[in-house]
Amino acid sequence: MTARVLVVDDLLPNIKLLEARLSAEYFGVLAATNGPDALRICARGECDLVLLDVMMPGMDGFEVCRRLKSDPATAHLPVVMVTALDQPADRVRGLDAGADDFLTKPVDEVALIARVRSLARLKLTLDELRNRCATAVDLGAGGKLAEAIGDSGANGRILLVDDRQNSSRLIEGTLTSQKQRIEVEPSPARALERAANGDYELLILSLNLHEFDGLRLCAQLRSMEQTRHTPILLIADLEDRARVLRGLDLGVNDYLARPIDRNELIARVRTQLRRKRYADALRSSLAESLQMAIVDPLTGLNNRRYLETHLAGLLDQSASRGQPLSMMVLDIDHFKAINDTYGHDVGDEVLRAFAKRVREVTREADLVCRLGGEEFVVLMPDSDAVSAAVIAERVRYAIEAQPFVVSGTARPVPVTVSIGLAESRGERSPDSFFRRADKALYRSKSEGRNRVTLAAA
Ligand code: GH3
Ligand code: MG
Ligand code: MG
Repeated sequence: MTARVLVVDDLLPNIKLLEARLSAEYFGVLAATNGPDALRICARGECDLVLLDVMMPGMDGFEVCRRLKSDPATAHLPVVMVTALDQPADRVRGLDAGADDFLTKPVDEVALIARVRSLARLKLTLDELRNRCATAVDLGAGGKLAEAIGDSGANGRILLVDDRQNSSRLIEGTLTSQKQRIEVEPSPARALERAANGDYELLILSLNLHEFDGLRLCAQLRSMEQTRHTPILLIADLEDRARVLRGLDLGVNDYLARPIDRNELIARVRTQLRRKRYADALRSSLAESLQMAIVDPLTGLNNRRYLETHLAGLLDQSASRGQPLSMMVLDIDHFKAINDTYGHDVGDEVLRAFAKRVREVTREADLVCRLGGEEFVVLMPDSDAVSAAVIAERVRYAIEAQPFVVSGTARPVPVTVSIGLAESRGERSPDSFFRRADKALYRSKSEGRNRVTLAAA
């Protein structure tokens, strides 16, 4: 995987050093020597990730980070703060400014590559989700996303897998004091089961379990459907660098070296929780937007867009398998008069009840769609004109037989429907098939309404 990394530092030698290491790993490198230049490069969307020095004349790194994170156009860009080793407080300040991660100078090579790789991977996933979500946000599902962006990363449901008591106590105590909800599981086998069945937002794993390979546990967690998206934070000894790298390859999200720095633990946990919640919000608005794209909100039936896609597939299938396919087009009679007499809300209620009734008297395999307004389509796979006519007549009768009981009207509202019916003739074009059924509908209307007309073959 490759990504474009922007290195921001006022000292050229620092830039050169990071550039050499990153290029060796095939990352593309851009450089800026001050905050305003960095902001411009980010705004133009030229980089995927930012390594940001804290100490710079003029605008310092915290300020650059705050600006990036408060602009919706750049807020998703991962930022790694590069802090001085003797200023541990800067790490927490950086995270407070919205940074995704930090590295300390002099920059450790494994830590650098590990963090850049994992953030580049994250950016890739989020970009993909964000692209697919663009429509959802346009349609107003952005509230949940905005909420996730502002999430503080507290109240996380965390499972810690660690079989050393002194270590697990330290982690548990530290995180509990920060209002995280943490459970400890010393047995790796039971941990796997709990992780799969519990609704955890973060898994913290010790890499040095007594009788179990921590990396194996990571691999298992990544391969299970229930835990595929759950972030994993490794706790490793300093000399375990090679295995940490393997872990990152397996999909581990972050790591922390022993001896554990409490502030770093708190910060890394919070960051993982915030990312997880943001990705979850993206995934759920994506699901919502897919749903919105194909379902009519008033009746819950599939909409015209869905019909068009689906009809093409059904026609192909019917033509290639030689199975019949029939379609009815329905239009409620004098619906405008219902609106005019009882009001638009009653009209809506009639549409809902109409849809429900049509669905009840058609078969499971028949696809009922709302084309728009008071027009509907029913696709009947495996039905020739003769059997489709029986179903159409059943629909027509079901609507006429029982006036619609709706709230707010003294008496039930009588409704009738006109129907046009066509059987496909092996045509591949949805348009011409639909036009034949629609023409038949027109005849039902002109010949007095409340009737079914079969299109000429
Ligand atoms: P015809 O028998 O010739 O079909 O007469 P009609 O009155 O049913 O047909 P027309 O196309 O003239 O009127 C359809 C009406 O449906 C007009 C429009 O205001 C109403 N309508 C369209 N969509 C909705 C909706 O979602 N809710 C409600 N309540 N009315 C709708
Ligand atoms: Mg109409
Ligand atoms: Mg009508």
